[in-house]
Amino acid sequence: MTRLPISHIQEAAEAALNVARPYLREGRVASYIPALSSVNPDHLGLAAVTLDGHTVTAGDAVTPFSIQSISKVFTLTLALNKVGEKLWARVGREPSGTAFNSIVQLESEAGRPRNPLINAGAIATTDQIINSGGASGGASGGVLGGAREAIDDIESFLQTVAMDTAVEIDLDVAASEAAAGSRNRSLAHFMAAFGNLTHPVETVLDVYFHQCALKMTCLQLARAGLYLANEGVDPLTGKRITSVDHCRQINAVMMQCGHYDNSGEFAVRVGLPGKSGVGGGILAIAPGKGAVAVWSPGLNEAGTSFSGAAALEHFSAALDWSVFSV
Ligand code: GLN
Repeated sequence: MTRLPISHIQEAAEAALNVARPYLREGRVASYIPALSSVNPDHLGLAAVTLDGHTVTAGDAVTPFSIQSISKVFTLTLALNKVGEKLWARVGREPSGTAFNSIVQLESEAGRPRNPLINAGAIATTDQIINSGGASGGASGGVLGGAREAIDDIESFLQTVAMDTAVEIDLDVAASEAAAGSRNRSLAHFMAAFGNLTHPVETVLDVYFHQCALKMTCLQLARAGLYLANEGVDPLTGKRITSVDHCRQINAVMMQCGHYDNSGEFAVRVGLPGKSGVGGGILAIAPGKGAVAVWSPGLNEAGTSFSGAAALEHFSAALDWSVFSV
């Protein structure tokens, strides 16, 4: 691979934000989770980390935001590490072509969600990382038995891959999600009815609501995604985070399914495996090159950051990072 000068990457980051800035008010901040609705729509940030550890930041790159569905990439990693290929019996790996919280396919497909990056699929995936026989519960801050250990595991995994112990879960956002969680409860109960959850619905949702409420900066997220750009090994610590096979599977699923019914559009425009969240963040992986995260809270109709996607499109093109480039 030809190594790009870091000044070139920095220029591309700043230029990408300049291209995206005029679109800040085009998107809508997510309002169905009350704790997210008060976020200022004018935030815009980008951070990229290369495999050799160079970092660039532009705009609001070190302001923490709610990573929401981007957490699904990390719980997918943990589930594959724990149960391996058996995961795919619980959840598919096909694009859904439907909204992130859609329920329609679940009935016709017997409670097996299309992929781990839509809500139903992420809930089924999270179910797999909960250890059975956890402490009985509800005593510690309202978290249900069995859930506490999984929540702690997810938080500490993110601290490890982000190389930052400051990464934490925003408990107000988690509570807000739980309070407004009827849709996710419906998805979970529907899967439970088909026997596709191994733990009680409320235990699984407890973990799911907490993972979505992880608060991170663009810089922490880009750093955390680096193992996915390096066949499962963290290039900066040399530690294997997941197997080569799992890493390839995760990137393939991100490319096809990372933005729900907007995934094809993102693949065409950006050309990188990516994952968006309704907090306005997007993580994208450039295999063999690096990872990049953007944040801007205004979303398009599919729930992907409007300006964030514009910035990534420009950034990827400027660096020729698309996986389809030769
Ligand atoms: N926590 C959100 C939900 O469950 C995540 C959705 C998203 O980021 N697309 O609806």
